[in-house]
Amino acid sequence: MDSLFFKEEHVMIQDMVKDFAKTMVEPVARELDEREMFPKDLVSQMGKLGLMGIMVPEQYGGSGLDMTAFATAIIELGRADASVAITMAAHNSLGTIPLLLFGNEDQKKNYLPMLASGETLGAFGLTEPDAGSDAGSTKTKAVRQGNEYIVNGGKIFITNAGEAGLLSFTSQVVEDGDSIGIAAFIIPTDTPGLEIGKKEKKMGWKASDTRQLYFKDMKIPAEAMLGTPESGFKTFMKTLASGRISIGALSIGTALGAYEKALKYSKERYAFNRPIHEFQSISFKLSDMATKIEASKLLVYHAAWLKDQGRSINKEAAMAKLFASETAMDVTREAIQIHGGYGYVKDYDVERYFRDAKILEIGEGTSEIQRMIISREILKDVQL
Ligand SMILES: Cc1cc2nc3c(=O)[nH]c(=O)nc-3n(C[C@H](O)[C@H](O)[C@H](O)COP(=O)(O)OP(=O)(O)OC[C@H]3O[C@@H](n4cnc5c(N)ncnc54)[C@H](O)[C@@H]3O)c2cc1C
Repeated sequence: MDSLFFKEEHVMIQDMVKDFAKTMVEPVARELDEREMFPKDLVSQMGKLGLMGIMVPEQYGGSGLDMTAFATAIIELGRADASVAITMAAHNSLGTIPLLLFGNEDQKKNYLPMLASGETLGAFGLTEPDAGSDAGSTKTKAVRQGNEYIVNGGKIFITNAGEAGLLSFTSQVVEDGDSIGIAAFIIPTDTPGLEIGKKEKKMGWKASDTRQLYFKDMKIPAEAMLGTPESGFKTFMKTLASGRISIGALSIGTALGAYEKALKYSKERYAFNRPIHEFQSISFKLSDMATKIEASKLLVYHAAWLKDQGRSINKEAAMAKLFASETAMDVTREAIQIHGGYGYVKDYDVERYFRDAKILEIGEGTSEIQRMIISREILKDVQL
């Protein structure tokens, strides 16, 4: 099915990442999870392979590839380890796309090469303690003083935050005492006034770095703004739409990894003198898992293809993220069921895939929010 959407370069990237994931990521995935260890070495290797600037144009040191290539790479990494995959995915989408979409030439020249090489990791701060799904309720304030902004507030649950060298974040912009909109800014993470909180203890994605950020009278130059306050909300809505395709892809990777392990186990495990896949209730589970994964691939690759054509992706990216993330949850749950008691202990990797799957229904817009986006899109087309 992949070939429906693939050009030669997509086949090449798939082969390369599959090989990298098999030889370098899979062997360490369990240890990274158990020790909650950020995969620093793997990030640097992914930088050398061109995966940390996969969609950055070649003139800024990136690989100049498209969304389909990005989705393919995430699927292959996610199949081996979701934490490694989200580290790379968040860097390329949340950490880099605001700059690609809305940065001016100086900002692009300054920051894109270091992000694309993987030398510097990117993070994106949108969520706040009182503004998650309701991102428009952002409380962080950047108050203009001459040629600077003084920023106060904070962000929560920020992926890569403790390892990143660059942070894009959203904030209300206050000028002459009035809030004039929400804008995105980009800053180095050693900016005085930026405090980085402790690493969150999570159910899954344990090797991924997630932290709270605090802005305390943080002074930043006016040139740190990406775009304008008027375009700010659009900046991060567009960033999130692309991010949804990447979470859809990670959902496919997570589901595929668990499905393949369950398929193999169903042939190895005997009960009542036969391999368990000979029981229809097991083989039908495998059928449902494979079908949902195939449907998720069609939705995710279609949304990526639309994005690569420069077409609108609001509805399609939301559908892809919704269906693929719920598939990841269903498939990882059934993979444990197929493993029986062995699925519940850490010696078999399906337990990790199950824990890694739940966040896919929450991050970058919960399932409820995806349904809201889809319903708005389908209802606006109805003519009575
Ligand atoms: C591991 C992890 C990594 C993350 N990484 C990042 C990151 O890098 N950058 C970043 O900015 N954020 C990040 N997030 C935050 C994530 O995007 C938010 O947690 C998510 O958008 C939900 O927001 P919330 O947690 O405030 O939940 P809430 O918005 O409080 O939602 C609570 C519940 O209410 C429901 N709900 C809310 N509004 C509605 C509505 N209008 N209609 C129906 N139901 C509704 C939700 O669906 C959910 O079930 C991360 C979160 C986690 C856990």
